[in-house]
Amino acid sequence: MKFRNGPNGVHLFDRLSGLNVLVDELRPKEAVWSTSPRQVSIALTNVCDLHCSYCYAPKHKASLHTDQVLDWLKELDTEGCLGIGFGGGEPTLHPDFLDICKRAAGETQLAVTFTTHGHRLTPQLVGSLKGSIHFARISVDGVGRTYEEQRGKQFASLLRGMESIATLSPFGINVVVNGRTVAELDAMSELAQKVGASELLLLPQQATKAVANMDGVVGRALLDWVSHYRGKVRLPAASD
Ligand code: SF4
Repeated sequence: MKFRNGPNGVHLFDRLSGLNVLVDELRPKEAVWSTSPRQVSIALTNVCDLHCSYCYAPKHKASLHTDQVLDWLKELDTEGCLGIGFGGGEPTLHPDFLDICKRAAGETQLAVTFTTHGHRLTPQLVGSLKGSIHFARISVDGVGRTYEEQRGKQFASLLRGMESIATLSPFGINVVVNGRTVAELDAMSELAQKVGASELLLLPQQATKAVANMDGVVGRALLDWVSHYRGKVRLPAASD
C-alpha cells in the first residue's frame, strides 16, 4: 500500500488490487504534500511497426535510455507518484522493454502499466512480464474489416493479442473514435466484455497530417452513445 499526501487528503493506493481510497478526513500540512504528478506517462520509444493515419507520435526513431528512465521512476516514486504508463510508439519495441518493466516493478512501488497495439505479445514476452505489470491497455479501433483498414493488421492477430493480454494482468481497451469507429461502439463494448476487459477508454481522434480532428457529427454521436450506454465494462474519463 502506498500513501500520497495532498490538499484533498491522504490517498491510499494498492497497485496489486487497484484499490484507490482518498481519506479526506485527514488534511496533511502543505509541507508534506507530494510534489510529483499522481500518474506519469513515458513514451519509451517513437518506433512502431504500424502506420495508423491518426498516429500523433513523433516519427523520428528515438528511444529513451534504460538507466535514465529508471532514475526518473525512482525519483517519481520517492516524491509520491503512484503509477507509470509506458507508451510510444510501440513500447514493446524498446530493446529493454522487459528489463524496464521488471526493474520498475521491482525497484519502485509504482503501478506499472503500458499501452500496446497487441501484435507483439508472444507467449514468451507475456510469460516474462507476468508479475511486473499491474494493468495493460490494448488499442482496438473497430472490429473486423474496420479494424484492419484503420490499423493495417489482421483482426485475428489482434484477437490473439487480447487473449494474451488477458493472461498477463487486468486490462482495458483504448478506442480512437472517428467517423468509422463510432458506428462500432456497440460491437467494441460487446467485445470488451467478452474478452474480460475492465475498461473501455474512448479517445476522440486528434488531427495529424493525414486526418482531421473528430468532427461535431461524430462527437454528438459519441455523446449520445455514452449517455445511453448500459454495458458492464467501465467507461473511464481520459484523465482517470
Ligand atoms: S500502433 Fe500506435 S504508435 Fe503505432 S502507428 Fe498506430 S497509433 Fe502510432
